[in-house]
Amino acid sequence: MSIPIIIFLGPPGCGKGTHAKLLAERAGAGHFDLGSLLRGIAKSGSPRGVELTGFMSKGLLVPDSLIIDIVRDALAERVRTNPPPALLLDGFPRTVAQAEALEKVAAAIELGPVSVININLPDEIIVERIANRRVCNKCGAIFQTHEISSQQCPKCTGGQLIQRDDDKAEVVRRRLEEYKAKTAPLLQFYGKTGKLVSVVSDAPTEVVRERVYGAYKQIQPK
Ligand code: AMP
Repeated sequence: MSIPIIIFLGPPGCGKGTHAKLLAERAGAGHFDLGSLLRGIAKSGSPRGVELTGFMSKGLLVPDSLIIDIVRDALAERVRTNPPPALLLDGFPRTVAQAEALEKVAAAIELGPVSVININLPDEIIVERIANRRVCNKCGAIFQTHEISSQQCPKCTGGQLIQRDDDKAEVVRRRLEEYKAKTAPLLQFYGKTGKLVSVVSDAPTEVVRERVYGAYKQIQPK
């Protein structure tokens, strides 16, 4: 049986990662978080990791050829070893070439149909949110500085809350430019399919969580 895919789109800092995680838990779906996968490879210090770091530390998208190879292998492995009832794709695709490659990969490993949740937020809020974002270096939980009182992660034992290197102001500006030039065209690409629903994340997490769930219900195959 084919595994439905829900793609999460949105600019950096819009809450995409947080809401993909929340929806995956609520809907009993798998969560494929490409940014975390890439950071793991980058940290390993392998030749591929060093290559990834060169792009990621500057806020640039990693070239399509490299991303498509990594994603093809990771998705095939996921479907083979631990197939979820549905799969949320968080951070992939981020270019039209990646979306086209996904169509081929999905056909080959029985993923689909595809629906899309687009999370949106004005630029000025994005820049502020990213500057105030802290991430647990152990469990990956994400917080805003006003939600925490120390560097210890309140969700797990032993995790430290840190600022990602690519969350620094000048790198964030580059990531936003990359989003507008290369990822925003996907809104048109998927808009044509009638399977894209947009949500604005200009409200507290619990409110946006309900909006995202509403969008998910709307795009579910009847
Ligand atoms: P994220 O955690 O999703 O914000 O991703 C962090 C960084 O990983 C991005 O700024 C890019 O450098 C890289 N990255 C993540 N996903 C992709 C993708 N689909 N295509 C190219 N680069 C990506």
